[in-house]
Amino acid sequence: MTELLHEPKPTPLALLLLGQGADPDSERGVECPGALPPASDPDLVDRAARARAALGDRAFILGHHYQRNEVIQFADVTGDSFKLAQQAAANPQAEFIVFCGVHFMAESADILTASHQQVVLPDLAAGCSMADMADIAQVESCWASLEQAGIADVTVPITYMNSTAAIKAFTGRHGGAICTSSNARQSLQWALEQGQKVLFLPDQHLGRNTAVRDLGLGLADCVVYDPRRPLGGLTEAELQRATMILWKGHCSVHGRFSPGNVDDVRRRVPGVQVIVHPECQYEVVEKADVVGSTERIIATIAQAPAGSSWAVGTELNLVRRLAQDHPDQTIVYLDDTVCFCSTMNRIDLPHLVWALESLAAGNVVNRIQVDADTAHWARIALDRMLSLPGPAAKAD
Ligand code: SF4
Repeated sequence: MTELLHEPKPTPLALLLLGQGADPDSERGVECPGALPPASDPDLVDRAARARAALGDRAFILGHHYQRNEVIQFADVTGDSFKLAQQAAANPQAEFIVFCGVHFMAESADILTASHQQVVLPDLAAGCSMADMADIAQVESCWASLEQAGIADVTVPITYMNSTAAIKAFTGRHGGAICTSSNARQSLQWALEQGQKVLFLPDQHLGRNTAVRDLGLGLADCVVYDPRRPLGGLTEAELQRATMILWKGHCSVHGRFSPGNVDDVRRRVPGVQVIVHPECQYEVVEKADVVGSTERIIATIAQAPAGSSWAVGTELNLVRRLAQDHPDQTIVYLDDTVCFCSTMNRIDLPHLVWALESLAAGNVVNRIQVDADTAHWARIALDRMLSLPGPAAKAD
């Protein structure tokens, strides 16, 4: 019988849900400019349905896997960030792309869609803590450090999809490529054929896990570049020796899982298999049975026989949905405290209703637009990824 053996305990992060509180370090702190309906309005579902119907084919609603159910029920398609951006581009009849995800995902959709399509993010405060750990000025300064150490011309940047458009464009300008959690191995392999070193942005864990576990590099081949310290907190000699220069960034959701969580769940659930996302720490991934992108986690559990037991190390909304969808399996959450993506969860039903009603009334709100030059170079980095052999690109 499916069960989320126990609900995780709340943490201060939980206070950010439904906009209750703010996290100035990881969010944009943007106020909703409109008359946001109260969350207590009993008519919210009907209002969303009416606005959705009024918009018809003019709107296409994208729902990321980590989004809450009250929003997912209105999604025309669900998926990871890159699949959703591609779906937006594949539906050119839709003039409005309503992206129930986070800011960088809406930027990617704007880069890939046609100029007549307008991408809307229902809450501009829905950022990504990982993407926000690397801003373009810091990355330019890092590149200057690599030039100072005499290694910039042998270094290829590889940037995870979970990054700002400006950093994707930087990657394109400097001969690099984008990667997703599904094709990071192919992207890294390609980069090491082009140069001697890789600057991996912005998730140190995905970079380290891929380099060490998939490509056979040693942990000693990796250094972590801290953008808040001169020369990244490294010496020129350390930069020159390293093969992988990992940006000091991480996902605030996946980075929370610890090796102790794996030990605990194995004690708690006999025969459990642990499946985690590669944004988890290296020590966690090493203890897991299966490691894979969000789409791989979903597919692995969907194909597992009845009676299987899984402890899942990814975002809690998705884990709950997996437990509901597979009542013949035991599906538990890897951590014992709340681990929502608090920024993704900023997009709730009131914000969706507000965005849809505004669009239906002819008022385009919260449009996400990437300037033409940034979009051009970001597209080059994305196209380099798409030209690589290997698994279809899937992200986050
Ligand atoms: S789960 Fe992590 S990487 Fe994904 S959007 Fe949330 S903070 Fe960013």
